Amino acid sequence: MDPCRFVADVHLAKVAKYLRILGLDTLYYHEISDDRLVEIANEHGRIVLTRDKELASRSERVYYVSRGTLFEVVQDIVRRFECRCAPLTRCLVDNTPLQKVDKEEVMDRLPPKVRVLFNDFWRCPTCGRIYWHGTHYERMLAFARQVCEIPAQ
Ligand SMILES: [Zn+2]
Repeated sequence: MDPCRFVADVHLAKVAKYLRILGLDTLYYHEISDDRLVEIANEHGRIVLTRDKELASRSERVYYVSRGTLFEVVQDIVRRFECRCAPLTRCLVDNTPLQKVDKEEVMDRLPPKVRVLFNDFWRCPTCGRIYWHGTHYERMLAFARQVCEIPAQ
């Protein structure tokens, strides 16, 4: 089973978002009890990520997340679990794997500038959000490549 499947506790919203940027399957809930987090980990083969020492001592399926910059924290998790990154393949809002879509299909929902500049689009089948390789994407990709030590092409 893939060890890089996580459920982050409520205090790790940003870490969860960045793990999703790396393409790692990471659940996040704005409100959830510690008991439920451990249950999800046990039932679904996930690792709980937390900075709560008490919670971290409860189960082998809970990982105590170190302090540091976002880069250091995320890299520590990637290294610890030997994660294979697939940068920007998941919806950052709800964790769903993205699907490629034809430009024609989403044309009417794109800002005018984007229509002109880009030809490749991905859609989240859960929330419908559309993704393309804009400047924001390039920044996130650079972060992901550095964290995951993926050589630039
Ligand atoms: Zn989505």
